[in-house]
Amino acid sequence: MYSISKKISIGKKATLAKDRFVNDEAIPAAITQFTCCSCNHENTIKISPYQSGFPIIQVYHEDKVLPKSGLLKNGMVAETSQRMIHLGELTVNDLPTLYFGTDCPSCLSKYICVFSYGERQPGLEILQISGIWEYQELK
Ligand SMILES: [Zn+2]
Repeated sequence: MYSISKKISIGKKATLAKDRFVNDEAIPAAITQFTCCSCNHENTIKISPYQSGFPIIQVYHEDKVLPKSGLLKNGMVAETSQRMIHLGELTVNDLPTLYFGTDCPSCLSKYICVFSYGERQPGLEILQISGIWEYQELK
């Protein structure tokens, strides 16, 4: 699990076994599998609330990694509603949104995972994985 600092282009979306974790399902970590688009290797990802990931704003700030349009076009995030705009312009489910990079250990393809975590309603904590996409660094 790492942060991404170079410009990237987004490729295929991988298939995730489970993308939504409610309350205790995300404690101490949300664990799921995705299938590598290149080699079909089954990879496990583990997301620990308040520990895993980096703020999504680091990706689109000054188009550093990927412009907002690229994040929206690929369905990785949505525009935040006005009442939650303090979380940033782009979020998943209007909740604090994070991302991380990871590599398929079998073929070394690079992936970016986007998720959000927070209280959707009183007593309802949701960890929603928007998806995991193959990416390539731009030269
Ligand atoms: Zn692979």
